[in-house]
Amino acid sequence: MSIDICEITPAHIRAIFPYAPGKPISELERELGLTNIVKLASNENPLGPSPKALEAAEKALLDISRYPDGNGFELKAAIAERYGVSMDSIVLGNGSNDLLELAARAFLAPGLSAVFSQHAFAVYSLAVQSAGAKGIEAPAKDWGHDLEMMFSMLEADTRMVFIANPNNPTGTLLGKEELLSFLKSIPPSILIVLDEAYNEYLPSGFDSGSVSWLADFPNLIVTRTFSKAYGLAGLRTGFALANPAVADMMNRVRQPFNVNSVAQAAAVAALSDISFLERSRALNFAGMEQVRKGLENLELEYIPSYGNFLSFHVGHAQGIYQKLLKLGVIVRPIAGYAMPEHLRVSIGLESENEKFLKALEQAVGEKT
Ligand SMILES: *Cc1c(COP(=O)(O)O)cnc(C)c1O
Repeated sequence: MSIDICEITPAHIRAIFPYAPGKPISELERELGLTNIVKLASNENPLGPSPKALEAAEKALLDISRYPDGNGFELKAAIAERYGVSMDSIVLGNGSNDLLELAARAFLAPGLSAVFSQHAFAVYSLAVQSAGAKGIEAPAKDWGHDLEMMFSMLEADTRMVFIANPNNPTGTLLGKEELLSFLKSIPPSILIVLDEAYNEYLPSGFDSGSVSWLADFPNLIVTRTFSKAYGLAGLRTGFALANPAVADMMNRVRQPFNVNSVAQAAAVAALSDISFLERSRALNFAGMEQVRKGLENLELEYIPSYGNFLSFHVGHAQGIYQKLLKLGVIVRPIAGYAMPEHLRVSIGLESENEKFLKALEQAVGEKT
C-alpha cells in the first residue's frame, strides 16, 4: 500500500515555498562549461575571510573529533565584551537564519501570528510558517518598511514583528528615531526581531544603537551575522542579543551543538580583526559608488542601498539574468520578493563589478 506523503504532511508545511538561494559557481560551471565566473548573488564578502579567522579555523580543524562547546563560551565571551552585554543575553546560531527560526519556534505556534514587510527577507515568512503560525505581510513604502502600516496590521494573536535593517533585497534603512518610537509603541507581549545582518556595512553615524535599547525593551531581539562583512558565510555563524529570559527560551529550542567548533573559533578571531572589517567597509563603499555610476551610465534605476548589494530595475529581469549567466556573471533574481522587474547584485571586487557592468551593458543592449 502506498501513501501520499503530501497528504500526511501538515498543511502549514505543505504550504511552504522553498527558499531560492543564489546559484553556486560550481553549478554554473557544470551547466555552461564556463570558467572565470563572477558570483555577485549572495552578498558575500569579496575579500574572502579575514586571515586571522582562517588561521583560527585551520587550528580548530585539528580538534574536530571533539564535539563543539555547546555553550560557545569563548565566542559568547568575545561578543559580550565587544557589545557590553552579559553572556546570558547571547544566543548563538548556525547563521543568523538559525536565530530567526529559533525565535519563531520559541514564541510562535499555530493560532499565533507574526508581521513582516513586503519585500522583506524571505526567511521571516519561512520561519513563521514552519512554526505553524500565520504570517502577515504589510505593504512596503518606497520599497522599505512602513512601520505605521506594520503597526496597523498587528492582530490580537500577533506575537512577533520582524524588521530587517538594512533590508535585503531592497537595501532600505529605517532611521533610529523612527525605529525607537516604533519600539515604544509596540506592546511588550510582542517580540521584535531586529535583523541587522548588514550592520557592519553602515556608514558611520547610521548605526541604530539597537544594542543599547536592549535594557529598556525586554521584547527586543537583535540578530547579527558573521556571514556578511566578517566573510564567514560558509561556516554559518550568527548571534542574537536579547533579554536573558528571551535568550533562555531560544536556547531551549536550539540544538545543543548548532554552531560547530571551527565556526566558533573563526568567529572569535574575526570579531577581533578590526582592520579586516575596515578594509571590507572601504571596499564596499568604493564598489557601491562604482556600481551606482555604472548603472546610471546605463540609465538603469536602482534603489539606494545601505548594504553590500543593490537592486536595480531592468524590466524583463529573468531574461537579463539568463543573459548575464551566459556571460559568466551570477546575480540574484528577486521575483520571489514580488520584484519581478528587478535584479539584485552584490558589491564585489573592482574587477568583478567591472565585469558585471560590462556584461550588463551587453545584456540590456541585446534584442530579446
Ligand atoms: C544574509 C542575511 C542574513 C544572514 O544569514 P546567515 O544565516 O547569517 O548567513 C540575515 N538576514 C538578512 C536580511 C540577510 O540578508
